[in-house]
Amino acid sequence: MSRFEYAPAPESRAIVDLQPAYGLFIGGEFVPPADGGVIKSVNPASEEVLAEVAEAGPADVDRAVAAARSAYQDVWRPMPGRERAKYLFRIARIIAERSRELAVLESLDNGKPIRESRDADLPLVAAHFFYYAGWADKLNHAGFGPDPQPLGVAGQVIPWNFPLLMLAWKIAPALATGNTVVLKPAETTPLTALRFAEICQQADLPPGVVNIVTGAGPTGAALVEHPDVDKVAFTGSTEVGRAIAQAVAGTRKRVTLELGGKAANIVFEDAALDQAVEGIVNGSFFNQGHVCCAGSRLLVQESVYDELLASLKRRMATLRVGDPLDKNTDLGAINSGAQLERIRNLAGIGEQEGAQPWSPPCQLPDRGYWFAPTIFTGVTQAHRIAREEIFGPVLSVLTFRTPDEAVAKANNTPYGLSAGIWTEKGSRILAIADRLRAGVVWANTFNKFDPTSPFGGYKESGYGREGGRHGLEAYLA
Ligand code: ADP
Repeated sequence: MSRFEYAPAPESRAIVDLQPAYGLFIGGEFVPPADGGVIKSVNPASEEVLAEVAEAGPADVDRAVAAARSAYQDVWRPMPGRERAKYLFRIARIIAERSRELAVLESLDNGKPIRESRDADLPLVAAHFFYYAGWADKLNHAGFGPDPQPLGVAGQVIPWNFPLLMLAWKIAPALATGNTVVLKPAETTPLTALRFAEICQQADLPPGVVNIVTGAGPTGAALVEHPDVDKVAFTGSTEVGRAIAQAVAGTRKRVTLELGGKAANIVFEDAALDQAVEGIVNGSFFNQGHVCCAGSRLLVQESVYDELLASLKRRMATLRVGDPLDKNTDLGAINSGAQLERIRNLAGIGEQEGAQPWSPPCQLPDRGYWFAPTIFTGVTQAHRIAREEIFGPVLSVLTFRTPDEAVAKANNTPYGLSAGIWTEKGSRILAIADRLRAGVVWANTFNKFDPTSPFGGYKESGYGREGGRHGLEAYLA
């Protein structure tokens, strides 16, 4: 059958008004950094510099924490929950109203397809603020005692894969519970966080309740180690998570860590295979595989291996890689040159260790950072591509014969963030899910998110839960 060709359908970027340079958002205003360092934020699809942002040093972090402390003491903590809720509802509404602008900016700065930023990230960001706004006046009934109290100033450090969504996961529950925040976005994707700072101004949020300090690892470290921070919330790599756990050990700070993953997506022979293929593609190539809960280890029951692999390849051949702002695009750009290097390196090791890579024919743009969707077959559990998080559009395929073997292989990882089960039997879903050591288990679907549902890991995937009623606990004493 002949296939329709797609005409390009690019989303206009005219809606995004960018300044050439941004300061730090401290005490409700944009201010220059004390030491004048700058970072360039680059569009990974074109390598064009989008804007320069300030690099906050220790003195800037100190100013931001002081602003958060006084806002906490003077305004936010004394404010009744029903009043705090009004600000959160207002922020949620403004996000929804400005969602096209925010989606375009997110795709420009991160490289993710506009279809995802528009249809997944932004609706979830608004939903998160709406959801936690609803909790702000009901904390006495949340199951954490008759009169739970906020912790104080939260220092929050987030990664680049879902910049605005991770900001929402951090800021919404913190504010709903009466804490104030200093948030550091990732150095490659600071622009939507700065746009969020403008939204805080638009919402008349009292100055100092939200502070945004841009910068790289040292800025994050200064924030985490600041003595006047009461709570640390981090999402990122297990390596940095470990450093943070060490930095706060022995202090009174409360910590939540949401780290790496190497999720097993298990397909049993009785599964609806076409549906499973959609879930596998979504699980491993959504957001270019820059997803900590990505289903990057596919475990297929041997009896359906050939059939499943053939339809997976057929489906992968229809994926469109290219301009993130094109509404037809399925896979956008890799977020940075450094990340592309990491993916190439680990994929190269996969080949050296004897696994076989396969990618559909696809033409990658000349400029920017790109990696074709790839599957590795002939992977064993000892291979590094089966053990280490690759954080790119690369799927390792393994097989199993019995449910026990599937569970043993799925759990044979230092991580434990998520997992997927594909089978038509409800009883099998329950039996297997019970034995998987993973914080989230999806059944006959993958990568589904909802603000009411807690998310978090086992083992080296971190501790604490974000989202849902559980997510309040991390910000309450
Ligand atoms: P990734 O592997 O996804 O790039 P990282 O863990 O390196 O994730 O980065 C996640 C976030 O942590 C980023 O905002 C980064 O700047 C920050 N970060 C990096 N090193 C440190 C550190 N030592 N302390 C605190 N934050 C850090």
